Amino acid sequence: MTEATLVARFAPSPTGALHLGNARTALFNFLLARRSGGHFILRIEDTDAERSSDAYLEALVEDLRWLGLDWQEGPDTGGHSAPYRQSERTGLYADFQERLLVTGAAYPCYCTPAELELSRRTQLAAGRPPRYAGTCRELTAAQRRDREAHGLVPTLRFRVQPGAEVVFDDIVHGPQRFATDDIGDFIVRRADGSAAFFFCNAVDDALMGVSHVLRGEDHLANTPRQLLVLKALGLTAPTYGHVSMIVGDDGAPLSKRHGAPSLSGLRERGYLALAVRNHLFRLGHAPAVQGTLAIDAMAEAFDIGRLGRSPARFDLVQLDSWQKEAVHGLTDDAFAQWARAALAAVPPAEQAAFIAAVRPNVVFPDDVAAWARVVFGDAPSLSEAGVAVVRDAGGAFFGAAAAAAAASGNDLAAITAAVREATGRKGPALYKPLRLALTGLDHGPELAPLLRAMPRAKARERLIRYAG
Ligand code: GLU
Ligand code: ZN
Repeated sequence: MTEATLVARFAPSPTGALHLGNARTALFNFLLARRSGGHFILRIEDTDAERSSDAYLEALVEDLRWLGLDWQEGPDTGGHSAPYRQSERTGLYADFQERLLVTGAAYPCYCTPAELELSRRTQLAAGRPPRYAGTCRELTAAQRRDREAHGLVPTLRFRVQPGAEVVFDDIVHGPQRFATDDIGDFIVRRADGSAAFFFCNAVDDALMGVSHVLRGEDHLANTPRQLLVLKALGLTAPTYGHVSMIVGDDGAPLSKRHGAPSLSGLRERGYLALAVRNHLFRLGHAPAVQGTLAIDAMAEAFDIGRLGRSPARFDLVQLDSWQKEAVHGLTDDAFAQWARAALAAVPPAEQAAFIAAVRPNVVFPDDVAAWARVVFGDAPSLSEAGVAVVRDAGGAFFGAAAAAAAASGNDLAAITAAVREATGRKGPALYKPLRLALTGLDHGPELAPLLRAMPRAKARERLIRYAG
């Protein structure tokens, strides 16, 4: 790694399933590193032991790999900044916390959760934004000893100097200016000894050499506190970019009720990673290049200058159109793999013909399963309207069709020629009754290839039943 190497990271907390907002953050950081031949780190922010779990971590790694992302450093790959789980970095943090304590940049706070809550409510009731009241800011050594003698275990609180400003440039939002008077003293170490987010997130970025941080806009207001910690420790801050939130079609932050499941939910439904990446790539980012992009082309097209400030709308219709494209682009083998459960009902000899026939009409494996039932299942029952169409075509129509199907081996051209000859019908009057009798439906994939995939006995049986 040279000094100029771009280092990006994704720093999830393993407290739940990976949702689309986080997946997009991961993708953007991955692409940022990839496009410049830089480094991408996966760091696990699991200092909140109660909410974090190994099961979530495993699922997270699986989801990211499924999405097609890989990292040069991470909990499973190692690297020169190991360990990559914050829960394993407590010792490292202790040195920096000690430094903050010794220099007076932080102080022990003995306030209990109940006292803090009371103070918070009092301030809210007075119409003020709740902030740490400063109770323990100027305790003398004797006062501290006294509290500790009473068994109080302190948190470590960062001392925010009043009357100053924190200024930085955000990649997306431009110049930012925050008054320290609006920032209350904040916790850098909890009473249980674990490091708090503002502290370890910032310190780790510095220790891991992270040069760029792209993350959700909800973290923009956290940035000044992180910059204060880094400054107090003489550590280098990364360049931050806060990407716009993802919202549903009603403009509210994306949630389950917008039909936006977790990444694993999408995978289970049969969405392809290529499709998901292509939709995420365009949420809050307006690339100059259109069309479905493979990973390297996507990295090349990723442009932090094109990250937008307005909320990004998640759109299932858009996602499904990427999905359709992606399904069309699958090789036969990949298609067979993608839809393998649905293809279980398809005789191996007909598989290639069946895939060729239905591919233009399927978006999910469920669609494949539905067409497999149509082609290889029991003879379909028709709607009332369908029965009327078939009856109107008449027995001679289907007698000729069944004979031609048997003679030609399900060749649609031969069948239609025979029926035309026998009945004089053409156009929809010819095709619609055939399609209905054969598939039970008045829509679907092109009939000729679908019929080629259908076992001959089935085709004959479906035609002959209306011949009488
Ligand atoms: N653990 C934080 C989160 O998941 C990381 C924020 C950041 O990327 O800095 O929101
Ligand atoms: Zn206190």
